[in-house]
Amino acid sequence: MTSKALNSFLNDNIADLKERGLYNEIDPVQGPNGPEIKIGDRTLINLSSNNYLGLATEDRLKQVAKQAVDSHGVGAGAVRTINGTLDLHLELEKKLAAFKGTEAVISYQSGFNCNMAAISAVMDKHDAILSDELNHASIIDGCRLSRAKIIRFNHSDMDDLRKKAKEAVESGQYNKIMVITDGVFSMDGDIAKLPEIVDIAEEFDLITYVDDAHGSGVLGKGAGTVKHFGLQDKVDFQMGTLSKAIGVIGGYVAGKANLIDWLKVRSRPFLFSTAVSPADAAASTKAVEILMESTELNEKLWENGNYLKAGLKQLGFDIGNSETPITPCIIGDENATQTFSRRLNEEGVYAKSIVFPTVPRGTGRVRNMPTAAHTKEMLDKAIAIYEKVGKELGVI
Ligand code: PMP
Repeated sequence: MTSKALNSFLNDNIADLKERGLYNEIDPVQGPNGPEIKIGDRTLINLSSNNYLGLATEDRLKQVAKQAVDSHGVGAGAVRTINGTLDLHLELEKKLAAFKGTEAVISYQSGFNCNMAAISAVMDKHDAILSDELNHASIIDGCRLSRAKIIRFNHSDMDDLRKKAKEAVESGQYNKIMVITDGVFSMDGDIAKLPEIVDIAEEFDLITYVDDAHGSGVLGKGAGTVKHFGLQDKVDFQMGTLSKAIGVIGGYVAGKANLIDWLKVRSRPFLFSTAVSPADAAASTKAVEILMESTELNEKLWENGNYLKAGLKQLGFDIGNSETPITPCIIGDENATQTFSRRLNEEGVYAKSIVFPTVPRGTGRVRNMPTAAHTKEMLDKAIAIYEKVGKELGVI
C-alpha cells in the first residue's frame, strides 16, 4: 500500500503545475541528438542541444568508445578511491589539465555533481559564498550543501559584488570567502566579467570559482572563458562539463595540484559514487584531443552562430545581448512564447521555450543553440520558418 500523504502530495502538485503551464513535457528523441532530430515520425532542425561542436555524434569519438568497451568493458566497477580509477580516467584528467593549462584536474560523473562536490568540499558553515543571482541550479545546490552563508549579488553587477565582498570581509564573520559565477550564462549567452571579478577577488582575498559549462569548447578558441580573458593563473576553480561541447558525459575541476589533491580525498561523489564508464572516459579524451589539435569546429560554431543571429536580427526579432553562439529570441509573454515554440515545432524547428521561473516574468524566449554540425541549408530553413511563424503570430 502506498502512503496516502505521498499520493495526495504528488497528485495535487502535478495537477497544480499542469494548471499553471509549468509542467515539463518530455519529447523523446529517436536516434542521435545531432543537428536534426527525430521526434515521433518527424525530423526537425535541432536548435536545443548543448552539443556545441557536434561531437556527441562524431565518428572518431564513437570509434574510441567502441574500442574502450572492447578493451575495458562497460563499467568502471567501483568508486574512484577503491579500484574504479582506470588508466582511461587518468588519461582524461591529464589531457584536460594540458588543455586548461592547469597543474591538475579531477573528473566527476556529471557537471551537476561536480559543482555539488567541489563547492562543499572546500566551503563550510564558517565561510561565505558570493554568488551571481543567475548562477546555475547546480551551483546553488552546491552552495547550499556546503552550509556556507550564501550572499547573492546582482547579475554581473561589479559594484554590487565589490560592496558585498567588502561587507563580508569587514564583518569578520567568515574564515574563507568565495566568489562563484557561470563563465557564460546560458539563458542570454552573456559572458561573466571575469577580469573585474578577479580584481575584486585579489583585493579581498576571495577564492574564485568559474563554472564554464557553456564556455568550454566555445570561448578562448575552445579552452574556455578563463583562457578567453588570459586569466589562467588567477582563477582557483575552473569547472567544466564533458556533456556539452565535449559531447559525452561528466564534469571536472581544473586547478592547482593541492586543490585537486584535496578534492580527491574530500569530495563525496568522487569517494562514494562509481566513476564514468570506460567508453565515456575514452570518448571525452578523444574530444579534448580534437579540440587541442584544431580550432576548426570552434570556428564553424561561431560562423553558424553569427549566421543565425544575423538572419534572425535582420527579420526584426529581439535576440538580446548574447556574446556567444547562444541565440535567444525574446518573445516576452509566457503563453505567446510557448505558442511560438509550438508553431516552430509544427513547421520543422525544435527550439524550446524558456519562461518564468527560469527567466524573469515577461522575458519568455525561444532559445536557439546553433552548433558546428548545422549546415547553412539547415540554418536557412530554420530562419525561413522563423519568418513564417514570426509574421503569423505578429512578433515581427
Ligand atoms: N553548470 C551549468 C552552467 C550548466 O548549464 C549545466 C548543465 N545544464 C551544469 C552545470 C551541469 O552539467 P551536466 O549536464 O554535465 O551535469
